[in-house]
Amino acid sequence: MKKIFVLGMVAMACSVTFAQQPQDVRNDKIGVGMTPTMSEYWSPKPKVVTPGDQATAGAPSDAIVLFDGTEKSMTDNWVTVNARTKEVNPAKWIVKDGVMTVNKDYKNGGGDIQTKEEFGSYQLHLEWCVPEMDPKFTSQIRGNSGVYNQNMYEVQVLDCYNNDTYVNGMTGSIYKQTPPLANAMRKPGEWQYYDIIYSAPVFNADGTYKVRPYITVIHNGVVLQNHTEILGTTEYIGFPQVKAHGDGPILLQCHGDPSPGISFRNIWIRKM
Ligand code: MG
Repeated sequence: MKKIFVLGMVAMACSVTFAQQPQDVRNDKIGVGMTPTMSEYWSPKPKVVTPGDQATAGAPSDAIVLFDGTEKSMTDNWVTVNARTKEVNPAKWIVKDGVMTVNKDYKNGGGDIQTKEEFGSYQLHLEWCVPEMDPKFTSQIRGNSGVYNQNMYEVQVLDCYNNDTYVNGMTGSIYKQTPPLANAMRKPGEWQYYDIIYSAPVFNADGTYKVRPYITVIHNGVVLQNHTEILGTTEYIGFPQVKAHGDGPILLQCHGDPSPGISFRNIWIRKM
């Protein structure tokens, strides 16, 4: 009887801690008194894994093709939304030879792009390539982009081939949250792919998570995130926040650093 009581107390303590966590996170004021480095950590390093041969996955029959290599499919499916004014304009990334490349010319239509359509849970495939570039570009200013799931939660895209950075900002990290399980990078100039399985959150009436978002990320055939619980929104400064939301677009990041922009091709999504 005593044993059951003790076990019960332990279970209750665990559930209280878990139940309180979203509230604590939610009440945190974003980044107050913090610097960006306060939410970065650099070890332990995920092991380096050499991926197998490149495989290009064609879109399955029930997929929505978000980019097929043509300018038309970019403008049909993607827009740029001004973060300040919310003005919506056609996506103006550079489409050439079947790939689209980040446009960092903010004065001429550059910036992040996001899908016109909004999604709940999904399977997303996309291929990306970091160009070869000057070694002076290091850490986070080397091939930085990102896949923002439902426009809230970033899976980092970065050149982590012999490029050191904080581990919760590496390729395939849930940015500033969870490092990848491995480093499966190909060299700059070679095509990489992500397969992302994303499970959308469910919210309570008070805006806290009833069911948190979960994500699996496969990079070049190697699992980097295995049904990882997402703690909250992606914040550059401070810790994740809990913000209630519904379906949302996929956003591809235009990182405003001076290194050359990365390219994407063969993007498709299956609703789940
Ligand atoms: Mg990024």
